[in-house]
Amino acid sequence: MSTPVIELRDVHRRYDGSSEGPPALRQVSLTVRPGEAVAVLGPSGSGKSTLLNLVAGLDRPDTGTVTVNGVRVDALGETASARYRRSQIGMVFQFFNLLDDLTVTDNVLLPAQLAGMARGKAGRRAAELLETLGIDRHAHAYPGRLSGGERQRVAVARALMNRPPLLLADEPTGALDTASGEDVSRLLADLNADGQTIVVVTHDLALAQSCTTRTIRLLDGRIVADQGTGDIEGSFAREGAR
Ligand code: ADP
Repeated sequence: MSTPVIELRDVHRRYDGSSEGPPALRQVSLTVRPGEAVAVLGPSGSGKSTLLNLVAGLDRPDTGTVTVNGVRVDALGETASARYRRSQIGMVFQFFNLLDDLTVTDNVLLPAQLAGMARGKAGRRAAELLETLGIDRHAHAYPGRLSGGERQRVAVARALMNRPPLLLADEPTGALDTASGEDVSRLLADLNADGQTIVVVTHDLALAQSCTTRTIRLLDGRIVADQGTGDIEGSFAREGAR
C-alpha cells in the first residue's frame, strides 16, 4: 500500500474557553490515500475548518497525531510548518485570497518565490498553469478585473504552483454563482482525474458529487459517515444535515 497522504490518529481538539458543548473534534481517525478526492461535509460548527487547519499545520491537536506524506505535522515548529505548507499543501479558499495589487501572474508566482524557485522556471510553470486553467489571457490583468470564477481559477493556479501533493479547498464555490461554481467543480474533478489528491470542505452536496468520490460527514466533531460520494444522497437528505 502506498503511504497515505493524510493520516489522522485519535485527533482531539477543544478550543480554549469552550468548556461547554462538544469539542471541535473528538477522537477523529482518518486515512486519505494518494489520488483520492474527498469531500468533508457537515453543518456549521461540526469541525470541518478545524480538521482542515490541523492538516494544514495551522493548528495543533490536544491529543492524537496528524501525519501528511509521512511528516508529523502536529510536531512541526513554526518555520518548519510554514515550509511544510509551501511545499506539501495548496490551499483554495472561499474568497480567493488573491492580492489585488499584484497581477494574475504575480499572484500565481508568489508561492514559487517564497520557495526560492528560479525565476525562469517559475515563469514557465506559471504560464503553463494559466494556460491549462484557461486564464492565460488574463495573465497581466489585476484580479479585480476578473469574474469570481476566473479569480478562483487563479487561486487554484497559485495553489498548484509548487506541485503540492495535497490540495485543500475550503468552500471553493461558496462565493460563486451556480455556473462558475460548476466550472470550478469541473476543474477540481479534472485535476483529480490527473492524479491530484484533493480534500474539499463544503456545505454543497452538488460540489461534493461533481468532484469527489468519497464523502466524510462530520457532526459535533465526530466522523458520522465515510462513504462513496455516489451513495450519499439518500442518507444525507434523510438526516437533514444541509
Ligand atoms: P465548521 O468549519 O464545520 O463550521 P469549526 O471547525 O469552525 O466548524 O468549529 C467547530 C467548533 O469549534 C464550533 O463549536 C466552533 O464554535 C468552535 N471553534 C472553532 N474555532 C474556534 C476558535 N478559534 N475558538 C473557539 N472555538 C472555536
